[in-house]
Order: sequence, then C-alpha cells, then structure tokens
Amino acid sequence: MTSSSSGPQTATALAASRTPRSLAWVVWCLTAAVPAVGHFLVPASHAVAQVASYCLVSAGTAAAMAVGIRMHRPAARPVWWLLAAGQVMYASADVAYFVATTAGETNYPVLANILYLSQYVLVAAALVLLGRRRSPQRNTAALVDTAIFAVAAAVLWWVFLIHPAVAGPGFSALDRVAATIYPVMDLCVLTVAIRLLLGGGARQASYQLVLTFLALTLFADTAYGLLALHGAYETGGWSDALYLTSYLALGAAALHPSMRQVAEPVEGRSGATLYRVVLLAIATLVAPVVLVVQNLRHAAGSDLVVVTASAVLFLLMLTRMAGLIAAQRRIAMTDGLTGVYTRRYLSDALSVASERAARRGGLFAMLLVDVDHFKHINDTYGHPAGDQVLKEVARRLQEACGDTDVVARFGGEEFAVLVTGVVPDRLAALAELLRERIAAAPVLVDGRTTITVTVSVGAAALPGTASTEELLIAADGALYAAKRGGRNRVAVGDVERVTAVTPVGGDPADIDRQIQCWTAVVREAVRRCGKDPDLPVSMVAGVCAAWAHMRTGRPGHPALSVEQARAELRRCRGVQFHPHAVDEFLALEAAEVVGTPEASAAARLASMPG
Ligand code: GH3
Ligand code: MG
Ligand code: MG
Repeated sequence: MTSSSSGPQTATALAASRTPRSLAWVVWCLTAAVPAVGHFLVPASHAVAQVASYCLVSAGTAAAMAVGIRMHRPAARPVWWLLAAGQVMYASADVAYFVATTAGETNYPVLANILYLSQYVLVAAALVLLGRRRSPQRNTAALVDTAIFAVAAAVLWWVFLIHPAVAGPGFSALDRVAATIYPVMDLCVLTVAIRLLLGGGARQASYQLVLTFLALTLFADTAYGLLALHGAYETGGWSDALYLTSYLALGAAALHPSMRQVAEPVEGRSGATLYRVVLLAIATLVAPVVLVVQNLRHAAGSDLVVVTASAVLFLLMLTRMAGLIAAQRRIAMTDGLTGVYTRRYLSDALSVASERAARRGGLFAMLLVDVDHFKHINDTYGHPAGDQVLKEVARRLQEACGDTDVVARFGGEEFAVLVTGVVPDRLAALAELLRERIAAAPVLVDGRTTITVTVSVGAAALPGTASTEELLIAADGALYAAKRGGRNRVAVGDVERVTAVTPVGGDPADIDRQIQCWTAVVREAVRRCGKDPDLPVSMVAGVCAAWAHMRTGRPGHPALSVEQARAELRRCRGVQFHPHAVDEFLALEAAEVVGTPEASAAARLASMPG
C-alpha cells in the first residue's frame, strides 16, 4: 500500500513527467499559429515572407507528426508515417510551387503537381490502412453505404466541377487534365474517409482531428476548383486559411496522446440508425434532384452520367435493403447467447414438418432437453458461469444432432430438437445420445472451474395429423416424467395425453375462457332438453373446470387422457358433481362440442339438431 506522504509526491512526479506529452498538441497549435497568422498579417508586397510563413506551417506539420510518432510510439506506426509522408509531399509541393511561380513558370509546374498528387496517394493509403485496422472484419453494409455516398458525391463533382471544365470552351488541355485529376483524387480520399467514418467505433480526439484535416482540405480543394472554374480565385485569402487550419489539425492529431488508440479495432455494425437512413435517402436523391436542376437550367450534356448514377444508386439502395432484411432474419432465427435457433424459428420448422408428415403419412418428432438443477448452477457459480454452461450444452447438442435436425433454445435452460426423418427407435436412441454427451464430461467455465451438468430429455413422435401443440404437450409430459423419474434420464411421450386442452405453461386466461365458454354451452343444452332449467351456473362451471384441470398438464401433474378424464367425471357423478351437469357435459364432449381447445363450441351447439 502507498503511504499517505509518498502518494501525492508520486502523483505529482507522474503528472510532471506526463504533462509535456499530453500537452504537446496544445504547444504545437500555439506555436504554429504564429506563422499561420503572420501569413495574413504580412503585407502583399512582402511575397517571400508570405510564402515562407505558409511553407513553415506546412513543413512544420510534417516535423510535428514525426515528433508525435516518436513520442507516443503508436502500434499503428505505418498509418501515421504514411500520413506524415503525405504531409512531406504537400510541404515540398508548396515549396516547389512557389519556387516555380516565382521563377515565372505560372501554369502547372510539373514537379509541384507530381508532389501534390503523391500526397493524395499517401493519404488515401494511410486511410485505407487505418480503416482495415479499425474494422478488420468484412462489413458489407458499410461498403454499400460508402458506395452510395461516393456515387452521390461523384455526381455533384462531375456536374458542377469536372464536366464544365472538360466540356466548356476556353480551357487548355492542361486545364482540363487538372480539372479532372484533382477532383478525382479528392473523391478517392473522400471515399476512403467515408468508409473509415462508417466503420463506427470510438472517435478519439486524435481521430476527430484527422477528420477535421480531411474535411478542411477537401472543402478547400473543392472551393478552389469552383472558384478557378469561374475565374474568381485569388491567391491567398480564405482558402489559404482553410489549408493552414487543416495543417494545424493534422499536426495536433499526431501529437495528441489519443493517437495511440486511433487504430484499435472497433466493433462493426451492419444495422442502420435512423440518422444513417436519412443520410442515405438524401444521398440517393442527389442524382434525380441534380437532373431536375440541370433541366431547369437547360444545362444538358451530362444527363446520361446522372441517369446512370441514379440507376446505380437505386441498385445500391436495394442491395442495402436486402442486407438489412437478411440481418433481421438472422437475428430472428438465432438465439443471441447460444447461437442455436430461436423458438420462433422452431415453431415455423415444426409446422413445416407436421405438414410434410401429414402429406407423406409419416411421423414428426421432437425432443425437449432441460438442464437439471440449473438454478443451483447459477446460485453456486454465478450467472456468467450459467451462461457458459448453456453455451456448451447447446454446442454439444448441435454436435450430436445431424445437420437436418433443428436445435433450438426453447426457453431459459430448456432446448428443443425437431428430429427429421424419424423412426421411433432412432428417437429414443438420439435422446439417449444427447443425454450421454452432456453428462460425459464436465463443463469448463472461466478456464478453471469444472461443472458437472446433466439433462433430462422428453421425446415424442406423432403422426402428421396431430398438431404441433399436441406434439409439444406430449414431449413436455415426457420431460416431466423424466424429471419425476430422478433426472438425468430420457422418457418417451405418451400419445394418449396429447389432446390436453391447453399446453402446460399456457396462459391461464385461455383456460378460464374455455371453461366459461363450455359452461354457457352446457347450460344452454340443459335448458333446451328441459331436464333441469334451474340448474345453477356454479354446478355446470364446476364440472367444466374439473375437466379443464384434468386435461391440462401442470408440473408434477401430467394431463389425463380423454378416457381417464371421462372415467373420473363418471366416478364423481352424484357425489361431487350434479348428475345432470355431468351427463350433459359428457354427451356434449362425446360430440366434440365441449372439452376441446376449440372456441367455436357455441356455434357447433347451434348447428346440432335440437
Ligand atoms: P429442474 O431440474 O427441475 O429443471 O430445475 P432447474 O433449477 O433447472 O429449473 P428452474 O426452472 O427452477 O430454474 C431454471 C433457472 O434458469 C432459473 C433462471 O434464473 C435460469 N435461467 C434462465 N435463463 C437463463 C440464462 O439465460 N442464463 C442463466 N445463467 N440462467 C438462466
Ligand atoms: Mg432445469
Ligand atoms: Mg426448465
């Protein structure tokens, strides 16, 4: 433990050693601001001083970046060295440009232009590398979004910047090349910058400073292109201010301590926030809106490009929608914790299996697998360990089942397997295999604790004429039999029990509605036959409720079969229940008017002969 007297001293020493590093970016901004502001304060007559101050900031940025990289030693050094190399090119290009123009070479000095263009390549390479490091995994959604924004930007660049220069009168061949190549390079940098931005993840201060640098240079380049196109560009002024500010931001980005984390991997997302969807919609509308604007201006000439871009944007948007639908489907199908299918998917698969079995006259079957004393596992080892156990149980179940069997998480610690191509013998053998695989080896959690896990399995196979609810009830009854039998065992369902009125664990409100419906129908039948018109409702309701409870399985009380329930009512006739109520109920039950899950009992009674 640190003593109270040495604590503050140590903290002060640490702070002292850290302060220069953490504040280096501030020092840079203040220092570089002096020549940057000086550039504007120097009178136009002192052209050399003006140029020198500009180049000082530009070259100083490259030096500041080298200092930042050496000082912070980021893991992603190549990214930063590429950005710094790009800035060296920029500074050299600035110097070459001013030297050439001072020497009288006014139009496109070759060396300066080569250096300017190299800067784009190096910056784009740095951004691609940074993007790869931040999002190493493939992210198709981000790629499609990037393409949508890039195509929209390309339309604007083409219509308002490139096409007028390429097709307009009075431009030299070099003008046309420059008017094409610089915007194209800007577009390339913009595209990789958008991809980086859409990759998501934490936006550290250093990351934001790099983005500021990119935004300012791209804005300044575009503004320069537009002004030059319309002959309105003047040396110096606000575009110089934009470039100088962007240099300051880039130098600060490399000196800020957060530059070390900028390239750390981030979690990729394939969804789309409302904000992103709105931006995508705006981007998709760019091409048609430009087409309208161009037509209003009677500025034809680039229609084919814009119409093609519209079609491309439309197709990209469709691709994106298809991706979103596929992602939603995957989420709906897959259990988040264990990776097996969800109960919703199982339910659809069960319906398909039931229909197929009905068509072919075969069986459809399922297993319910419940982890024994799972609450105890949670209580003893903690919830995260419980989660690990569930994952491992799911993995073993999937491994043991064939590709055609559907393993799903049915609820908390309960799994279900829809068994295809079933014969009754295989069903019991598969159930036993699953039980064995789980019990065979303890589950290892947190790398060192081992937990012995067992499961109980309920199995059932029914003909396709049965409903999926009936299959579930049969498997559930078997599962409870396996639990009652001592756990860590398999039981195969009793088909007689499958026509219980409501699945075990079903909504009690459903049972109440059934009872009320049957009571009304039985009373009406008693009234019609005139046997006992004053029979109290409670007498009839008691019989209906008894039937419902006998035919509804509960934990520890499996449902009685129809025959057993009938026998039970007859046994209690005249003892516990009114004889007329029992007789009438059994008659209607035999005619399948009451006693079944159907809610149309009243209608069926009405259609019966008086
Ligand atoms: P039995 O042998 O009768 O099946 O007993 P049991 O303890 O396994 O059954 P019970 O239904 O009493 O407890 C199930 C527990 O499973 C209760 C619940 O907190 C836990 N559970 C449900 N879902 C999850 C989950 O996703 N993760 C974890 N760790 N626990 C869960
Ligand atoms: Mg359990
Ligand atoms: Mg359970």
